[in-house]
Amino acid sequence: MKKSNCPVLIVGAGPTGLMMACQLSRFGVDFRIIDKKEGTTQLSKALGVQARTLEIYEQLGIVEEALAQGVPAESMQVMVNGKLAQEIPLSAMGEGLTAYPYMFVLEQSKNEDLLYAYLKKNGHEVEWNCEMLEFMQEEDNATVLIQDKNGEQEEITANWVIAADGGRSPLRHALQMQFKGDTYENIFYVVDTDIEWEFKEKKLYSNLAHSSFAAFFPMKDDNRYRVVGILPEEFENEADVSFDDIKEVIKEKHKIKLEFGKTHWFSVYKVHHRCIDNFRNGRVFFAGDAAHVHSPAGGQGMNTGLQDAYNLAWKLAWVLQEKAPLSVLDTYNEERLPVAHRLVNTTDRGFSTMVKKGTLANFFRLKFLPMILGTALGFDAVRKRAFRVVSQIGIRYRKSSLSKQTIALVGKLKAGDRMPYVQVYDEQEKVSKSIYQYMKTTKCQALIWLSNKDEIGEKEADALKECLGNYADQISIYTIHNLTENMAAFKSLKIGQSMLFLVRPDNYIGYIGAVDNLGKIQEYLKTISTETAVLS
Ligand SMILES: Cc1cc2nc3c(=O)[nH]c(=O)nc-3n(C[C@H](O)[C@H](O)[C@H](O)COP(=O)(O)OP(=O)(O)OC[C@H]3O[C@@H](n4cnc5c(N)ncnc54)[C@H](O)[C@@H]3O)c2cc1C
Repeated sequence: MKKSNCPVLIVGAGPTGLMMACQLSRFGVDFRIIDKKEGTTQLSKALGVQARTLEIYEQLGIVEEALAQGVPAESMQVMVNGKLAQEIPLSAMGEGLTAYPYMFVLEQSKNEDLLYAYLKKNGHEVEWNCEMLEFMQEEDNATVLIQDKNGEQEEITANWVIAADGGRSPLRHALQMQFKGDTYENIFYVVDTDIEWEFKEKKLYSNLAHSSFAAFFPMKDDNRYRVVGILPEEFENEADVSFDDIKEVIKEKHKIKLEFGKTHWFSVYKVHHRCIDNFRNGRVFFAGDAAHVHSPAGGQGMNTGLQDAYNLAWKLAWVLQEKAPLSVLDTYNEERLPVAHRLVNTTDRGFSTMVKKGTLANFFRLKFLPMILGTALGFDAVRKRAFRVVSQIGIRYRKSSLSKQTIALVGKLKAGDRMPYVQVYDEQEKVSKSIYQYMKTTKCQALIWLSNKDEIGEKEADALKECLGNYADQISIYTIHNLTENMAAFKSLKIGQSMLFLVRPDNYIGYIGAVDNLGKIQEYLKTISTETAVLS
C-alpha cells in the first residue's frame, strides 16, 4: 500500500474545508484536501452570506465575483397570515460598520465554486471521490487511511488533520467525541421554486401563520425563491413526500395569494442543535458542521464554518513555519468554542419561538412578535446591534489569551475585537481608503495612531518601528497621523492619545498599548512569535 506524509490533511471539501485550503494556500503551507463527493455541491443549501464572510472574500480577492453572482436582500417584510405587518429595511442596516452593510444572498454551491476556483488558480486541487476510511493518532502525528477514485488505498501520515467532514463527522465518531445537544421535533422543508405573486422586489418575506411559519428568500433569478418552513403535520409520517404533495396545503395555511412554478430543489430535514466540547483533539482540529450544528435561523451555519477555518489557518500556518509557538494553537478552541456555544443557544431560542406549538405561542407569534420586531428595529442603535450579531462582525475574542490591552480607550473598543471599518488617508496616494485595504497580507498589521495630543511623536514612533522591524516576517507597519482627513477615524475609535493596535492576520486586534512602552509590546509578541530579537 502506498504510504505518504503531509503537514496538513483536510478531510472534507465543503465550504469549511475549502476555506481552510484557500487560507493555507495564501500562507504558503503544503496540504492535501480530500472529499468523498464527486465535486462541489450542486445544491443551493445555505443562502445567507454575512458581511464578515464578504470581508474575508475581499481579502482573498474574490468578493467582486461573489457580489456579481448574488443579490443583497433589500428588506424583510414580516407578514401575518399573508398580510403585511411590518417592513424592516435591510439594505443599509450596517451602514458605516462594514463595506458590506447588508444581508447578501448567494447559494452555497456558488460559494463553494468561488473558493474552489481560487484554489485551482493558486495551483491546488481537491482529491474528489476520495474517502477517509480509518483514522488513528499518536502524540506527534495522525495516520489516515484513504481510498481514492480508482479504489487504491493510501496511508497518509499528517502532522495535523482538519475535520471539516460535516455534521455526521466520521472523525468525530472515530475519536468517540460527544456531540451534545438535541433535535427539534418538527420536520422542516426547503424548496427552491419559481413563484408568481404580487411582490416583485428582492425582499425577504416572512409569513407567520397559525402553528407555522414560512420564509421566502429572494434568489438571483427573477422569480426564484428559497422557501423554508415547517412541514405540515399531515405529511410528517409520509415517506418520499414531494413539494407537489404539500404546496396547496402551504398556500392555504399561509393565506398568501401566489402560484408556485417550477421546483428546482426540494428537501425535508430535521434540525439539530449540537456542539462538541473541544474544537481540538490531539492532532485533529474540528471546524464547521463537524463541530457545531444549529437551526438555519439567521443564516449562520456556513458562515460560522468559514470563520472557524479563517481563525485557525494563520495560527496553524505560523506554527508549521515555526514563526509562532505551539501555544497559539490552543487559542483556536479558546476563541471559537464560546462562539459556537453562543450561536447554538441564540439560534435555539429564536427558532423555538418560531416553531413552538400551542395557543399562547400562536398569540405571541402572530400578535406580539411583528410589533416588537418593528418597534425595536425602528431604533438605529437596535438595528446596528442586530446587524453586528447577524453579520458576525460583532464576534469578539476579548477573553482570549491572545488579546492584551495595556492602555484604556475612551470608547467601547477593546483588544480581541474585530478591527472596525474606518477610512484612513493614504499620504502617498493622497486618497482616503478603508483600513481593510491595508490588511490584505498574511502578516499582522501594526497600526500606529499618532495623536498630537500627547508628548509622543515621530521619535517614539521610530523607536517602535525599529523594534517591530525585527519581526518583519510577521508584522507590517502603518502609521496614521492626526490629519484632518483622519479625524473621523480617530473620533469614531475614540483615540485621544497616541497608541499602537496590533491587528492579527484575521483582522482581530490582538494588542492595544502605548506607542512608547516597548517592554509591554515585547512581552505580547512572545505570545505570537518565536522571534527572539533582543530589543532595546
Ligand atoms: C437543506 C439544507 C439547508 C441549509 N440551509 C442553510 C442556510 O440557509 N444557512 C446556513 O448558514 N446554513 C444552511 N445549511 C447548513 C450549511 O449547508 C452547512 O452549515 C455547511 O454546509 C457546513 O459546511 P461544512 O463544510 O462544515 O460541512 P459540509 O458542507 O457538510 O461538508 C462536509 C464534507 O465532508 C465530506 N466528507 C464526509 N465524510 C467524509 C469522509 N469520510 N471522507 C472524505 N470526505 C468526507 C462530505 O462529502 C462533505 O463534502 C443548510 C444545510 C442543508 C442540508
